[in-house]
Amino acid sequence: MTSTVPTKRHPNGQDDDNDDDDEEFTLPRNVEPKGYVDLDKVQQTSMESHLPSSNIGYRLLQKMGWKEGKGLGTLGQGRVDPIRIDLKQDSLGIGKAGQDQEYNESSASKRKALDSEKQLEETTEERQVRETKAMKQQEIQQELKEVKRAFYCELCDKQYNKVSEYDQHLQSYDHHHKKI
Ligand SMILES: [Zn+2]
Repeated sequence: MTSTVPTKRHPNGQDDDNDDDDEEFTLPRNVEPKGYVDLDKVQQTSMESHLPSSNIGYRLLQKMGWKEGKGLGTLGQGRVDPIRIDLKQDSLGIGKAGQDQEYNESSASKRKALDSEKQLEETTEERQVRETKAMKQQEIQQELKEVKRAFYCELCDKQYNKVSEYDQHLQSYDHHHKKI
């Protein structure tokens, strides 16, 4: 890419002196506002309809050498269409939804790797460690069940986890009421 600096010139290739069209055009100055703008009578643009050539902004741009369908750069470069507005309907911060989605996707794939893939790749030693760990966990659960059985009130069909809770229950109104 060459780095030539664009020379300032009239894009029409004409001198400003023999300008064809109009009377000297300037922005209205010292104009007092007379009231509210009647929006029904105002010409409005949209993404589909361009500014009319009677528009002040349009005429100012043309005065400065802009041509319809070209960008605003000195050589007509730049984007032609306005930036589309995407109305935000939620109350999330900008970029938050995308961030959440990214996080969810990455954590889901990570979990998959943890469970199934790791077991496939583990060595026999690692597998033994994992299996004994699981067995111990199971034994603990079984033991806990046995211990808890002592805190079970058959009369009321209620399971307690602590001896203090069980004792309290045995002395409670509910328990004695059932007994009678
Ligand atoms: Zn009881």
